Order: sequence, then structure tokens, then C-alpha cells
Amino acid sequence: MEGLNRISGDIPWTEPAITQVWAEYIADNKSWIEKMGGNIHLFAVGGEHPEVPGSESIQLWHYNGAGTRMMKSLYEQVSQRGAEVRHNAAAKKLLTNINGDVVGVRVETGEGHRMDIGANRGVILACGGFEFDERMKLNYLKTYPAYFYGSPANTGDGIRMALEVGADLWHMNCCSARAVGKFAEYPWSFPLDFGGKGWTARLLKSEGNPEPAGYILVNRYGKRFTSENFKLHCLYYELGLFDTQRLEYPRIPCYWIFNQSRIEAGALPLTIAGPAGPQQLYHWSQENSKELESDWIISGATVEELALKLDIPPDALRTTVNTYNGYCEKGHDPEFKRRPLDLIPLERPPFYAVRLWPGGANTRVDPVATPTARYSIPMVTPYPDSTGPVSWARSTACFIPREAAIWPNASPLGA
Ligand SMILES: Cc1cc2nc3c(=O)[nH]c(=O)nc-3n(C[C@H](O)[C@H](O)[C@H](O)COP(=O)(O)OP(=O)(O)OC[C@H]3O[C@@H](n4cnc5c(N)ncnc54)[C@H](O)[C@@H]3O)c2cc1C
Repeated sequence: MEGLNRISGDIPWTEPAITQVWAEYIADNKSWIEKMGGNIHLFAVGGEHPEVPGSESIQLWHYNGAGTRMMKSLYEQVSQRGAEVRHNAAAKKLLTNINGDVVGVRVETGEGHRMDIGANRGVILACGGFEFDERMKLNYLKTYPAYFYGSPANTGDGIRMALEVGADLWHMNCCSARAVGKFAEYPWSFPLDFGGKGWTARLLKSEGNPEPAGYILVNRYGKRFTSENFKLHCLYYELGLFDTQRLEYPRIPCYWIFNQSRIEAGALPLTIAGPAGPQQLYHWSQENSKELESDWIISGATVEELALKLDIPPDALRTTVNTYNGYCEKGHDPEFKRRPLDLIPLERPPFYAVRLWPGGANTRVDPVATPTARYSIPMVTPYPDSTGPVSWARSTACFIPREAAIWPNASPLGA
């Protein structure tokens, strides 16, 4: 891990002290949830990256009732402690004293009223990421556009507030994301259920439980570019390839190509999470008919007809599909080593496509203090060179709710 972390000489991706705190708290995750009465069960063993030493020690636990139930129980914890929750109160500015220390926050209510709230012990920034701020995405992420399905209220306010009081930023271009569907009518994106049966089934897939339908991902030239057994939380990085000869990103957008079998296997988006799931922001038709009519799903009676509608060279897509079907017949994908179990041919017309874009649940945000910055928002450890007041801020939009809870817990604020 030390080797992975030390990217450039003495500059680490993450300060070891931060990693240490993270590791200690994350190992305590299960008992933390259970102590609060949370009801969880072991769901799978092993990390997403089996090639990383120690990944077999990772356990995946599922909250019974999923995210909505988990949020309800966290909310109950807040109520039990008598904490006052103010809705419709958007944080706008960190208030500082004459020394530059943060002593409160300015909020604006739904009716446009402004209110200054003093802090007894500290202010914790938890306004999520910048997934709905186009300018920040353009400047901070590795690819553009990128579309997300977290809270549309996450417009990077925490970053602006932290910068105003002298914070620096790190990890802004680290993004745990993949390829998602995005349609002009809505601001958010959709996580997709590529092979059908849901993400859960994919993780637990076995010989007796294959995906119902075949599919491939192709670039703008109709070519496959990765194993469709992609890493759910980092395919995003592969989409960012830039072609300096053509001066373009050939994988933005890329295309999800499938056939009638996938249409018949049910709604295309994931329903365990996202706008077509518990968030219920959009009701996707079970037989995909509404979305076919809206041209969210593009169809063609033949592969060539589909390619023409996508502006892909028809011969190229035909060759790709033929080659892929040949791999399916042999049960071996020499190009990308896709699992034999998932080599399901694309033979049954009509053929379909959905445009895919880089994106995922949310962005990360890591305001961090500079040694000279004088402010005191949540701190994990004092900045190593700091002699001033608390000067290490850590984190909104950590990729796991528990991670988001670690930093305030671990800080001397003990919030
Ligand atoms: C559909 C979905 C599925 C996910 N599944 C998983 C999973 O299975 N496992 C996992 O580990 N993680 C998962 N994640 C990621 C995880 O939920 C996030 O990483 C985590 O919620 C981030 O926590 P946060 O507190 O930093 O930000 P958020 O949870 O995004 O909270 C930020 C809050 O701040 C509010 N806000 C924004 N601006 C202001 C302002 N100016 N003033 C006041 N409030 C403001 C927003 O309304 C929002 O409520 C998923 C995310 C999504 C969207």
C-alpha cells in the first residue's frame, strides 16, 4: 500500500495519518452500525480489485431495507440526541472571527431570509460534492461531460466556502464512476442494469445464474474497448482516453449495444438504486416502451441500421458483433478476457443502443487546509507543519456514508 500511495517521490496520494484513521474506523463499521440498532447481513466477501493484496479480507454488508432504511435509522439517531434539524436552510458562507477562525455559518432559508448561526465547537462541512455544478465538473474532473445521480442539491457549495477561508483542495479529480445513461429531459443520470437481473445478481452470478441477455460496449467507431466485466467504480477512467490525432474522446459517448433479449428481461436501469429506484424520480416502463418512443433507446432492425442511427460506420459495428458472437460460440474472449459465463451472443433482432456517458453516484470533495490557512473546520489530525489553530479540514462526499461519518467522529470536535 505504501508503494501505491507514494506516487511521486515524497508526495503521497493521501497522508498516511489520514489513511490510518480511515482504516481503523472502517474496520469498526459493522459494530458501529449494529450498536445503533442497524440490521445488516453479510452479502459477499472480497473486494472489487482482487489483484490488490489483501482484497480477500474485504467484506460487503448489506443494510436490510437498503439505503432508504439506513437513512431512516440514521435520522432516528439524530432525533434521539435532540439535535435540531433545519430544512430549507442552505449554507452560504463560513463566518470567521478577527483571527480568521471559523465561528459559524451563514444560511439562507427557502424564503430568502438570511441567518447567521454561531458554532460552539465547530462547523462541519457536509454539503456533498459538485456533481451538479457544470463549471466545477469541467475544471476538476478528468472527463467532460460527466453525469451523476446523487443529490441535485450538490453544487459544490462546501468547496466554495472552504476556499473562501483559505483551504486548499486535493483528490478533486478522483472519481468513483462508470458509464451511465443520461437523457436531455432530466438533470440526473441513470445507473444501468446491463445484463439484466440487477447488480446484486451480477455479483453473485454463478453457472446456474447467468445474466439473461448479452451486450457489448463500443466506442464511437463501433469497436469494443474493454471487458464488459468492467470495474463498477472505475470504468470512468477508461472512458477518458483522448485521441490526439483526431482531437477527440472516442469513448465519450460510448454505446451499450444489446438485442431483443435484454428488452424482454425488464427495465433497463438499476432499480436497487438511482432515479428509477428508491429515489422514484422517474418511472421507467417495465417493458421499456416509453423510453423507446422517447428515443432514449435507439433501435434498428439490423446491426447496420442501428449503426447508421448512431453515426457509427455500419461495417465496423457489424464486424464487432460478428467477432463477439464468434467468441461466444467458442466460450473465449481473446481480446478482453470477458468471463465465459457472460459471453451471450447478440443474434436476436431488433438491435438496440443507449448512449453512455462518464458518471456515477457522486463526486468526491476534499478541502484541506494549508499550513498557513487559519480556519477551524472539522479536523482529523492537525496539519503536520501547523502550529496554528486547527487547520486540517477533511472531506465531504466521501464514497460511503460511514466514511462521511468518520471525520467528524474522529475529530477532536467529536461531533
Ligand atoms: C444512488 C446511490 C447509490 C449509492 N450506493 C452506495 C453504496 O452502495 N455504497 C456506498 O458506500 N456508497 C454509495 N453511494 C455513495 C454515498 O451515498 C455517498 O458517497 C455519500 O452519501 C456521500 O456523503 P456526503 O454526506 O458527503 O454527501 P451527500 O450524502 O450527498 O449529502 C450532501 C447533502 O448536503 C445537502 N446540501 C448541498 N448543498 C448544501 C448547502 N449549501 N447547504 C446545506 N445543505 C446542502 C444536499 O442536499 C445533501 O443532502 C451511493 C450514492 C447514490 C446517489
